[in-house]
Amino acid sequence: MSQSPDRAAADRPVPKPGILDISAYVPGKAKVDGIEHPLKLSANENILGCSPRAKAAYGAAIDQLHIYPDSRATPLRQAIAAEFRLEPEQLIFGCGSDEIFHMLCQVYLEPGDNIVQGEFAFGAYAIGARACQAEVLSAPEPDYRVDVDELLKLVNDRTRLVFIANPGNPTGTYVGGEEIRRLHAALPKSVVLVLDGAYAEFVDDPAFEDGTDLARTSDNVIVTRTFSKLHGLATLRVGWAYGPADMIGALDRIRQPFNTSIPGQLAAVEALADKDFQKASLDLLAQWRPWLAQQLGGLGLSPVPSATNFVLVGFPTTGPKSAQAAEAYLASRGLIVRGVGGYGLPHHLRMTIGLEAHNRAVVEALADFMQAG
Ligand SMILES: *Cc1c(COP(=O)(O)O)cnc(C)c1O
Repeated sequence: MSQSPDRAAADRPVPKPGILDISAYVPGKAKVDGIEHPLKLSANENILGCSPRAKAAYGAAIDQLHIYPDSRATPLRQAIAAEFRLEPEQLIFGCGSDEIFHMLCQVYLEPGDNIVQGEFAFGAYAIGARACQAEVLSAPEPDYRVDVDELLKLVNDRTRLVFIANPGNPTGTYVGGEEIRRLHAALPKSVVLVLDGAYAEFVDDPAFEDGTDLARTSDNVIVTRTFSKLHGLATLRVGWAYGPADMIGALDRIRQPFNTSIPGQLAAVEALADKDFQKASLDLLAQWRPWLAQQLGGLGLSPVPSATNFVLVGFPTTGPKSAQAAEAYLASRGLIVRGVGGYGLPHHLRMTIGLEAHNRAVVEALADFMQAG
């Protein structure tokens, strides 16, 4: 952390120590120079859009734009409680799950405390922690998978939060329920275990657990979810969390009162009820995820087995067929994927799994890229 200069004597406002050491989050690209309608496969968005019922609810909210939203998101709270069989009072809503990570950091981290995460963890956790002048300890992820024993090695008496995205982003891998429960049992009771389930709906392995049972029966587990991925409502910024009443009560004290909007709340209720749209999204992945992995492997690339709506692909670490060159080549063909050098993965690209035509276009372009020269 950078030294605190005499901030009062400075000739202009000086951010508190550590702020300028934070690398601002870099979103997936959305544009390519010179290409009018590129295909954006860089942000794990739902390639089918969103539920038509959610769209209708959003539209119907047009006459309420001047109204402050229900601070407690009551209808959405009831819908989620019923759907997942959760106690409504133990839910909290956020401007995306991102805001909930920030609230967790603000509530639990003092300067000098730390969070523990995997080395390829989602960037939002570290930003939230550093904003609270806390340290970020990152454990190795052998085979691109969070490893419970590696996480535990880093936990010390300044650890307040352990963050796991399950499945992970950008890796797409997941940790089974038994391992998560083993981690929880080994953690000090004072440490919060955050299970970020942004992609939980995409996992079809019965050994996977979404963590809500663990959250119900413990004092230190919180599960976060979002409407941004499966439900395709990323722009509406609706996330939620479920956890012990004490924790939710603490978070609620610092929550911005109107952090989810009326259109967001109403669209989310409809999205949750639209099983047809959810099934179509999952069916598409069931069909194309294995195909894409097989094709990419056939090109000599190394797709990491994915349980999500995206795939992380490894490129040669030496020579001209680098991930960076591939990203540029794909962009020249109007295909935007995500470079993940910022996640410590300079030899990988992450791409959303698309519609059939999209997936075929990506594989064709990568085949040309690998054969060229
Ligand atoms: C996309 C994503 C989220 C969701 O963020 P929102 O703020 O809810 O849109 C959370 N965690 C991970 C790992 C993600 O990839």
